[in-house]
Amino acid sequence: MQRPLPVIPADRIRQPTPAMPDEGVVSWNMNTTCNYRCSYCTQRFLDDRQRWAADTPAFLAAFGALPQVSGVPWEVKLSGGEPLVHPGFVEVVRGLVARELFVSVVSNFSRHDLIDPFIDAAADRLRVLSLSLHLEFADLDRFIARAAAAQQRLPHTASLVVTCVATKQNLPALEALAMRFADVGVRFKVQPEKQDRDIVAYDDDGKALLYRLGGHNGTGHIAHDFGGQPCWSGSRYFIVDDAGEAYRCYPARRYRVERLGNLVHGTLRLHDAARPCLYRSCHCTVPIARGMMPVDAAVDRFED
Ligand code: SF4
Ligand code: SF4
Repeated sequence: MQRPLPVIPADRIRQPTPAMPDEGVVSWNMNTTCNYRCSYCTQRFLDDRQRWAADTPAFLAAFGALPQVSGVPWEVKLSGGEPLVHPGFVEVVRGLVARELFVSVVSNFSRHDLIDPFIDAAADRLRVLSLSLHLEFADLDRFIARAAAAQQRLPHTASLVVTCVATKQNLPALEALAMRFADVGVRFKVQPEKQDRDIVAYDDDGKALLYRLGGHNGTGHIAHDFGGQPCWSGSRYFIVDDAGEAYRCYPARRYRVERLGNLVHGTLRLHDAARPCLYRSCHCTVPIARGMMPVDAAVDRFED
């Protein structure tokens, strides 16, 4: 059953629309497969965790044809599941670079043997190498050493960040973890835990800790509410899955609204302008980081 959209407060003051971003970004969940089974994984209830994008040439052609503003190529952010277990991962990266697209990746860093080939393939088109630390599976000392080594190999155009989900179990360890990564010069960010796709209820101490650590992915907030504010997602940002199904952003897919068509069937229709946000809980730190909505108007809201 479709979940009703949240109510936006009638007295909310709509802020001016930010300037159109030149660079578009698409988050591609290229597979649902993953070699981990984290207890808090938001995808653990998916019916099929064995799916992966098969017709990668069709995806590459479609990414290459996305409408550019001022000639600035799009950035394709590869994620999953775990994208590095996709059998064509490095080939896909080469294909994106051949189309002069920018590339980022979110990986659990278990296939660390593929990190060097990835960095070589992405070369100066690499933007962000985001490594998610899953303490239920990772060997922490090795993870830190390998993250520091990978950072040394990045081109100057790229950055590396380590993220960790702030589960109740992880909370007491997060500040010490942040210090360990700081010691080796690696940026460390926390992500609030989601259950049933909403951010879990943190007590005041938990919230204070997350704010001290920079909020969700360093944005300064834990649970952004941009309801009613103009946002360029759907126009200069969208998400697409392994079958090509495209939505404006993650909350849009969660509510099964604002579907944009199918990327590989040729039915993708991006919005031609910013539109009001229909949601009350924005977890989309990519468009937030790029200022696609009035980020200064963000307020935290812990229930959706
Ligand atoms: S590594 Fe990521 S995708 Fe894989 S089980 Fe853990 S949270 Fe889920
Ligand atoms: S949830 Fe976030 S990304 Fe999606 S429309 Fe709202 S502000 Fe934009």
